[in-house]
Amino acid sequence: MLLKRSDHQISANSQSVREMQLEEVLTSLRVIELPLRSKFQGLTKREVALFQGKNGWAEFSPFTEYNDQESKKWLDSAIETATKSFQVIRSEIPINGTIPDSENEQEIAELVESYDGAKVFKVKVGRNLQSDLVRLARVSKYSPSAKLRIDVNGLWTVPDAIHNIRAICDQVAGNLEYVEQPVATIDELRELRAELEINVKIAVDEALRKSNAPLDLNLKGAADILILKVAPLGGIAKSLEIGERHKLPLVVSSALESAVGITHGLTLAAALPDISYACGLATGKLFAEDIAQHEISGGNIRVAKPEIDEDRLTRFTVSKGRLEWWRQRITRVWEVAP
Ligand SMILES: [Mg+2]
Repeated sequence: MLLKRSDHQISANSQSVREMQLEEVLTSLRVIELPLRSKFQGLTKREVALFQGKNGWAEFSPFTEYNDQESKKWLDSAIETATKSFQVIRSEIPINGTIPDSENEQEIAELVESYDGAKVFKVKVGRNLQSDLVRLARVSKYSPSAKLRIDVNGLWTVPDAIHNIRAICDQVAGNLEYVEQPVATIDELRELRAELEINVKIAVDEALRKSNAPLDLNLKGAADILILKVAPLGGIAKSLEIGERHKLPLVVSSALESAVGITHGLTLAAALPDISYACGLATGKLFAEDIAQHEISGGNIRVAKPEIDEDRLTRFTVSKGRLEWWRQRITRVWEVAP
């Protein structure tokens, strides 16, 4: 039954760009810059654009260095969210905590604590094995029974990955849930899986979401788990279709969005037929402040559209110059051919 529903959604999505006019997007456009609690992937602030359609607020937030072509999927996704609603089948989603590539023990302790009840932590690694091992040990120190995932963002070569995964497994014993994108390409993932003599699950993220044809990828022998991120994949309907196609366990994750963008991920996670892994949708905790709050308790996040705090929306509004930069960006991305 669910498959039928998503078939309908997919056809709806292909028309979604025509569901709004560029003028409507620009008229309701707000651009904000939110402060991060700690440095994440080199960022201390996150700039996001928000606009309203008949279904409410939507977020368009490709990172500022992304080109117009890559940003097109993010715009398709935002327009879909602004204009479509999706049927959901669950009211809360298990979350993982996300731990940045930090050296600071106090910061790690506070973050671990902030993900109320999380039983899984995703730890950013990849730049230096020794500090990665220290970071993992600190997470385990403050949440001894939690499972760990590591996210390498494709930084390792195959030989590095074999060496480093071995070292990490030696330290965390049976606690490693999976390794996300240890190497950059699908071919390397396949090579790694064939050569790795220890039994560790591999998840694919960048190689899927940065692909021009995510539906056509052959992931056989390359990955055990698929990471789905709504905006980079072009929307909720598209993500459902990709999830169905590859027939692998799914993890819905965020792209460091504001609470508005997180709502898109929550809708996807709540619409999926099956969720067997905690999802990376608690990244709101990485922000010092946000324009709305999602309720997280007991390791779960509630599926709901949060109330936007108008005062904060105003307080975090960017300069006129930045707003104009985003207006021009959206206008250009609008013209990119599908
Ligand atoms: Mg990742």
